[in-house]
Amino acid sequence: MNQPVSPNCATGSTIRQRGQHEVFCGLTSIIWLHRKVQDAFFLIVGSRTCAHLMQSAAGVMIFSEPRFATAIMEERDLAGMADMHDELDAVVDKLLQRRPDIKMLVLVGSCPSEVIKFDLSKAAERLNRVHAPNHRVLCYSGSGIETTFTQGEDNFLTALVNEAPRAPARNPAKLIVAGCLPDVVEDQFARLFEDMGVDGVEFLPGRNSSAMAGIGPATRFILAQPYLGATAAALESRGAKRIDALFPLGEEGTTAWLQAIADAFGVAEDRFEAATAAPRKRAQAALKAYRPWLDGRRIFFFPDSQLEPSLARFLFRETGADILEVGSPYLHREHAAGELALLPPGTSISEGQDVDLQIDRARASNPDLIVCGMGLANPFEAEGRLTKWSIEFAFTPIQGYEQAGDLAELFVRPLKRHSVLSEGLGIKEAASCS
Ligand code: SF4
Repeated sequence: MNQPVSPNCATGSTIRQRGQHEVFCGLTSIIWLHRKVQDAFFLIVGSRTCAHLMQSAAGVMIFSEPRFATAIMEERDLAGMADMHDELDAVVDKLLQRRPDIKMLVLVGSCPSEVIKFDLSKAAERLNRVHAPNHRVLCYSGSGIETTFTQGEDNFLTALVNEAPRAPARNPAKLIVAGCLPDVVEDQFARLFEDMGVDGVEFLPGRNSSAMAGIGPATRFILAQPYLGATAAALESRGAKRIDALFPLGEEGTTAWLQAIADAFGVAEDRFEAATAAPRKRAQAALKAYRPWLDGRRIFFFPDSQLEPSLARFLFRETGADILEVGSPYLHREHAAGELALLPPGTSISEGQDVDLQIDRARASNPDLIVCGMGLANPFEAEGRLTKWSIEFAFTPIQGYEQAGDLAELFVRPLKRHSVLSEGLGIKEAASCS
């Protein structure tokens, strides 16, 4: 079904769709989460399908000790559930004996029927009683029925918040930056906070699983990723207050994000200027090089990562691209409000997905570049259209000043490749004519 609903002021009406989704499930986020939290192990409780997805998507290196695996649950009737708990306990015992370095074991639920019947939170509680404090055990769902690929991260962070100590039992964090960031980006932000004089900052998730600072009414938090609705709700349920801002993509987004933090913590204007002036200039210079490639290009976003409104805002405001449609699997109206307000008037916004209808709209609008999932990209390429895989924006460091140029470059790459191939073809054609 395709229903235009209430118009919002800056953009056109929102198309709400409740059809088939063409996105990866929440298990996929383990690929970046296991790299970030270095003493955690993600044990998927799933099927052979889940194991295949993870192995092919993550490309496990055979010489390294992996930090995720799949405990494969075979089909059985309800009477067999008790055995399933025993089997999982045995797998966990074996794993923790072999890998005592694991400090946090994360059980990740999936969507096959045999797993849905299984009470994972009960299993996590039981295993935690046995293995804590040496190994904490927690769980969340990465099921494809409930989650798209970035929502797996949202569920993991929610589980971390739910088991974090309450303030004042432990000193509260002053600021929590919520959203998995590559280490290089985290380091850059940490330096900027230091230069601004903002201390007591916690990144969620951190690089290791040691217990977080307390969370309470004295805690402010800011989202570094736009797909963290459940995490934000969990933090707010502890009394923490959200700092509203654009997301830190591009020079404009990063400055607005840092400015919102500076305002919340009373950072003087000259101190903010001193901390940000040089990296802002570097970001602007880096973007200049890519603008000629993107200025006036017509871009269509399929719903995939929930990063789409922020990416579209960046492309429109900082590179001069034209935005045709911005699809997002789910739109958190409050968190995305600032991004949507900066999109060109009349931009078509779609929430949810009905893939056939959206393919029709993409073909009809004939964009210069389609940002979409891997499953749609190949057929579009076969039609001679240029595409960009949206999952790359989840894997690549793109936040912050120093990455603004890299972010633009991700969009430019397919355009450049096409240009090079076309030139090559032109040379060949000329040679064959002579
Ligand atoms: S969780 Fe569901 S959608 Fe994801 S790989 Fe497993 S079976 Fe497939």
